[in-house]
Amino acid sequence: MKFQALREQVCEANLATVKHGLVALTWGNVSAVDRNRGIVAIKPSGISYEELTPENMVICELASGSVHPGPFDPSSDTPTHLHLYRSFPSIGAIVHTHSSYATAWAQLARPLPCYGTTHADHFRGTIPVARPLSGDEIAGNYEHAAGVSIVDTFCANHLNPDHVPAVFLPGHAPFVWGPKLRPAVDNAVALEEVACMALLMGAGHNAAPSPLDPRIVDKHYSRKHGADAYYGQATTPKRGIIPS
Ligand SMILES: [Zn+2]
Repeated sequence: MKFQALREQVCEANLATVKHGLVALTWGNVSAVDRNRGIVAIKPSGISYEELTPENMVICELASGSVHPGPFDPSSDTPTHLHLYRSFPSIGAIVHTHSSYATAWAQLARPLPCYGTTHADHFRGTIPVARPLSGDEIAGNYEHAAGVSIVDTFCANHLNPDHVPAVFLPGHAPFVWGPKLRPAVDNAVALEEVACMALLMGAGHNAAPSPLDPRIVDKHYSRKHGADAYYGQATTPKRGIIPS
């Protein structure tokens, strides 16, 4: 099968997030880019981890977002991954999970300072929170806008994505990356641990978390339920092309 080695590596990395306890149900997705061939391999949308095989990893064009022919639609978060690969040329793999402690921190919508050496071993300073999305961004190409919000935040704060390979989407969860799959997964594990340690220390306990923006509540619910749902695999002909 074409791109077999990349498919195998991306499948293995997706399964590693489960092994490390970062993933429940179908939450989360891992991808990797082959910049020489201009392609990205990513987990299919809404497929259980028990069913993941190298063959059902989805291949997309890095530049256009076009999906190579195959039985499955890619992760609904693919436009976020593509925008990060296009904007951060040194990164090679991306891990998105809803791991409990890192997601708790994302839901506090607070930057996570470096409290100790475990953090400093992986991240050179504070893990930032991406800027909130506008109403138009939520209503439009939401997953692409999430990527734009991450890149905007790194640019506005002069952050180097090689030094700080993680970000919190406020009210959502972390996106983590690295030069290759293994360090990207390791960074996701490290972020979960340092978020846990921060909460154990009492950091964030004086925060008053805000309920999620109701527009994002509706967006996420309707991604999975109802006539316009697009999470998971289409029962009618595949969408084929992802907006770039
Ligand atoms: Zn998510």
